Amino acid sequence: MTKNTRMTKQRKAILRVLKNTESHPTADWIYEQVKKEIPNISLGTVYRNLNVLSELGKIQILDYGSTYSRYDGNPKNHYHFRCEKCGRVYDIHIDLFDDINKIVNEKTAFQVNEHRLEFTGLCPICQNEN
Ligand SMILES: [Zn+2]
Ligand SMILES: [Zn+2]
Repeated sequence: MTKNTRMTKQRKAILRVLKNTESHPTADWIYEQVKKEIPNISLGTVYRNLNVLSELGKIQILDYGSTYSRYDGNPKNHYHFRCEKCGRVYDIHIDLFDDINKIVNEKTAFQVNEHRLEFTGLCPICQNEN
């Protein structure tokens, strides 16, 4: 296998854009930002590099089924809140990962490695509009 895991200029630029936002953007948004720095980059290249960065464990791909994938510059396990009204995705800063894994490990016959949990509802901005 000769997969290219080198941090190319393009890959670095994509990673920098993603690390500098907490908005969990789509590939299209990332593409628009990176284009300011590398005008001749293509959307396909952005997608390809996002997949490689995910495989390298440097970013996370958040897959919401039918809607667009969103990308997260924080590769560590953390919870997300998705607003049902505006679609924004927020980080939830509570650390329950180890606790929940431990509970399931102790109470069931399964050996847990990871779990996924997503919160949905109304974000503070949308609550204020109501
Ligand atoms: Zn909202
Ligand atoms: Zn996040």
